[in-house]
Amino acid sequence: MKQELKEIVEPIVRWYQKQEKILPWKQDKEPYHVWVSEIMLQQTRIEAVKKYYTRFMKTLPTIQDLANVSEEKLLKLWEGLGYYSRARNLKKAAIQIEENYKGKMPTSYAELLKLSGIGEYTAGAIASISYQEKVPAVDGNVLRVISRVLASKEDVLLPETKKEITKKLSEIMPEEAGDFNEGLMELGEKICIPNTIPLCEKCPIQPFCIANKENLTNEIPVRIKKQKRRIEEKTVFIVKNKDEIAIRKREKTGILANLYEFPNVIRRSSRGEDSRNFKKLEYTI
Ligand code: SF4
Repeated sequence: MKQELKEIVEPIVRWYQKQEKILPWKQDKEPYHVWVSEIMLQQTRIEAVKKYYTRFMKTLPTIQDLANVSEEKLLKLWEGLGYYSRARNLKKAAIQIEENYKGKMPTSYAELLKLSGIGEYTAGAIASISYQEKVPAVDGNVLRVISRVLASKEDVLLPETKKEITKKLSEIMPEEAGDFNEGLMELGEKICIPNTIPLCEKCPIQPFCIANKENLTNEIPVRIKKQKRRIEEKTVFIVKNKDEIAIRKREKTGILANLYEFPNVIRRSSRGEDSRNFKKLEYTI
């Protein structure tokens, strides 16, 4: 069975336009707001992002404020969201915008892609939502919806699959590019949900979905995981002196770069062994 993908465009746009836009970053299509919210949402649930987004915008309401904020203050604002390189890249990109674009967000997909921390997905989201440029924004939700519509058994974790789906969507982008992209993402979040039975009876594109017709929704999307998570054993030292506690700054690069941690060694050690050598570890109180 073959499905013409373009048939889903109209129903998705109409469906999305009827949805309530209650999230703070959906109140307008201001590119700075779209950008920050999309970066926050990359690794974090919508519910959790709400309070971070509101506080971030209150503290740094403009791109200029973001470019000038100290790293300490920025990381404090980001505390709890994790993946701190996202925050650092936001600041780097804000400085690039100040220096190369006179403080105004670039208005095309190609220019947005040049900024730090902005990849194809984020560039597509900003360009389509804020400027109606006809480019797709393919995230995990979109991959799932399109794979199910087409009953594609390709592994959605592979870059080639993403590339292929991006290409297919590029060919059918409508004038209302932002509403179409946001509609696809929202459909994936609310209706064509992962890891359980999708709510097909409520889906505006059910008549065009092959996975639904052929009862394949529990098999699609296909995700073949290759790598196992690496588990690292550490011994962490809690060194107290009355009300003070020892901490140290992490390396400048890598995971949690430049953040503070309790002194530690990468191995499981006995109570005596490393503790006796503890003075060799650098730390401050
Ligand atoms: S009909 Fe069901 S499986 Fe198909 S896109 Fe809609 S929710 Fe997803």
